[in-house]
Amino acid sequence: MSEAVSYDDVLLVPHYSNIRSRSEIDISADMGNGLHLQLPIIASPMDTISEAPMACAMAKFGGTAVLHRYNSIESQCRLVRLTKDISAHGPVIVGAAIGTSDDFKERASALVEVGVNFLCVDVAHGHHVLMKEALDYLRKTFGDDLHIMAGNVATLEGVNALADWGATSARCNIGGGSICSTRVQTGHGVPGLQTIMDCARTDRDIKIIADGGIKNAGDIVKALAAGADAVMCGSLLAGTNETPGKIIEGKDGSRWKTYRGMASKEAQLGWRGKYSSFEGVATTIPYRGGIKYILNDLERGIRSGLSYSGARNIADLQAKAQFISQSSLGLSESKTHITERKW
Ligand code: IMP
Repeated sequence: MSEAVSYDDVLLVPHYSNIRSRSEIDISADMGNGLHLQLPIIASPMDTISEAPMACAMAKFGGTAVLHRYNSIESQCRLVRLTKDISAHGPVIVGAAIGTSDDFKERASALVEVGVNFLCVDVAHGHHVLMKEALDYLRKTFGDDLHIMAGNVATLEGVNALADWGATSARCNIGGGSICSTRVQTGHGVPGLQTIMDCARTDRDIKIIADGGIKNAGDIVKALAAGADAVMCGSLLAGTNETPGKIIEGKDGSRWKTYRGMASKEAQLGWRGKYSSFEGVATTIPYRGGIKYILNDLERGIRSGLSYSGARNIADLQAKAQFISQSSLGLSESKTHITERKW
């Protein structure tokens, strides 16, 4: 049985740096087929994360979002149009999610027709015959130039299969999301950072997206260093003005927003009026204001992270990165720990 590492199991060893300013560092990512990101962060296709305001905000900061698919085809197309209209200040790159069954063919055609920049074939288990058939259909229908993101997978074999079936990029990680209960419900999954280390060994022409379980800028730097081209985030962006849903006021004046897994009982009841097996939870998290503060902090953290490795860009980081494992005591030391100290 092999051992597998997660984000908190490791640290990156600092290296000599001749970078005088973090502004010299290039954190852009070419994701292929015209999807170029200045900030390598993609907002998750979830109904408490990505609608038009999130897509516009992400585009403004150089990232992108995938508009969720838990609505009618008309509603999702309206979100694409709305995103394009609000960003009147420049071209907005936005993606949209589709499934692998039911209305996915009509949905894909309608989204492409309305000008979506890329499609994301969004299923829990992407290393699957239905994914193979869907990618085959999408490539035959839309040609080779459309960026098609697909997932999720957790293994090198899974990534290679997605590439061979026609995907441009792969969402990697199964069971690692903050709202996810897949590993508990099914016993399946691979720890998040290990997934990236494994998937990045691919010899195919496919981009790797580290999806789920990313808690802070340090985890983003670790994911990029391990071979990811970009990361996908839900909880890091949740609770902000730009997410769908109302602010919930507590009796004590506290403010909250809902964040829920798309396979949670609550989400399934919301979008299809019934639920089958559920592999996610719904929760409320503190309201966190505008997303610009969060994205600014994340960007600064990523730049600083590259600087500690002496890296001028993401490829340089991947070449120079040196991981070491840390014990649970090391992890306690790595977090701010003054509040636990006995004076
Ligand atoms: P987070 O950034 O850790 O909050 O994880 C977000 C990711 O969790 C998404 O991009 C999806 O890949 C995944 N996800 C979303 N909903 C569910 C669910 O209900 N069960 C399992 N995984 C989910």
